[in-house]
Amino acid sequence: MATAGWETCDEDECIGVRARGTSACIAHLEPPVRDDVLRMLLDSSCDFLRGVTVDSNLLVWLLTFAPTSDDGRPVLTNVVATLARFQADVDFSSFRFQGTASFSGATFESACRFVGAEFHRSATFRGARFLGHVDFSDTVIHADLNLAEAEFAKSLSWKAVYVGTSTNLTGVTAHERAQADIISRDKMVLHRSNWLGGVRLNVQCRQISLDGAAFGKPSLITEGDWWPSKLKPAHRQIPQLISTRDADLDNLTVADLDLSACRFNGAHNLDKLRIEGKWSSFARTPATFRWAKRIAIAEEHLWRAELGPWRNRKSWSRPDGESGEVPKPQQLAQIYRRLRKSREDAKDEPGAIDFYYGEMEMRRASARTRGFFNVEHLILSLYWLTSGYGTRAWRAFTGLLSIILVASVLFTIWGMPPGNGWPTGLRVALESATSLLRAPAGTFTAAGEWFVLVLRYLGPVLLALGALALRSRVKR
Ligand SMILES: [Zn+2]
Repeated sequence: MATAGWETCDEDECIGVRARGTSACIAHLEPPVRDDVLRMLLDSSCDFLRGVTVDSNLLVWLLTFAPTSDDGRPVLTNVVATLARFQADVDFSSFRFQGTASFSGATFESACRFVGAEFHRSATFRGARFLGHVDFSDTVIHADLNLAEAEFAKSLSWKAVYVGTSTNLTGVTAHERAQADIISRDKMVLHRSNWLGGVRLNVQCRQISLDGAAFGKPSLITEGDWWPSKLKPAHRQIPQLISTRDADLDNLTVADLDLSACRFNGAHNLDKLRIEGKWSSFARTPATFRWAKRIAIAEEHLWRAELGPWRNRKSWSRPDGESGEVPKPQQLAQIYRRLRKSREDAKDEPGAIDFYYGEMEMRRASARTRGFFNVEHLILSLYWLTSGYGTRAWRAFTGLLSIILVASVLFTIWGMPPGNGWPTGLRVALESATSLLRAPAGTFTAAGEWFVLVLRYLGPVLLALGALALRSRVKR
């Protein structure tokens, strides 16, 4: 068959590769010839499984004839089992795979075990279909684990999988519940993966990205605490979630992941995402930016570094040095609003404040794009200036105090008939600022009457803003 990309077996409809020096695949050779060929081939290179249908008999022979290493473990070299069909239970437990190990497009019709196996290079199962249970527990893979586009029909539960570089789970479909403890020293890519029965991933990796992933049932991605003792790193490295574009985050909980570089723009159901764990951390505003620090998601950093007000651009960092697509302030406000809702649903009102602040900042920035003297921009700016959008109590109270002090001086100089000292001015200013309904006692000049009028409205507004801000800080 030309499409297979190799010389195929003479048997009708068999796409198995011809065993070297014969016209049939290893499965269709007569037993005496087959055994000789197997012995010869297993010692060198296991590329004779391409497209072959492997039944239980052949599997027994394959496993029996495999050479063993010094420590007694079966060894297979350069396995290429592209499009092979394994019809019986496959047990490669404790096997050592030297050189290539490719099972791309293979179908495992029954159970399949790689428990304790060791892959000296990458393990490739691209597009493989696992129809029975599959177990990679205690497997050590020195380079990549590639499970892209693989399909798992049954539930899976893997303990202690070690991957020396990256794990590729792009396009994986898991029909039942999946659970795995995986160390992947570089990246874990879950793009477009579909976890219909939910997944629990305990991961140790540098970065993890979830673009386009979907979680059919409650799922958890958290920092794993398992390490092989000799490989444990000296410093704790918290896995960094870097992207959730187009992912459906309904049902997902992330715990103890570093979110400081995470992109949220384009994620679905962001308000349903649950964020837990004491190590879960967002980026914060730069040290040089204003007085009060708050959470500022990576995309706000990017926007401020690229398109924000000129004077501050330098102090904001581009996540990972990339530029990419810069979200608009309206989009950022929406992201903040959804993250805030997620915190509020978790009954964490004080935690929601930072997201609320970010949301208001982005609304103000968005209004500014329509002109500095745009009414919404002016109102939001006033709200920001007087009380940090009703979240910064100290700002409202400091404002009130300054106004009273300034007013006390104004009263002393212009507001009252001559002969009244500053203490009287201070008393009048205090009384005016704290009494909306009752005017302070005393005689005033025309200017003094105006001071009283202004203070009687401004004072209670600032007091109310301050009280509101205090309340939002302590509310549970
Ligand atoms: Zn054949």
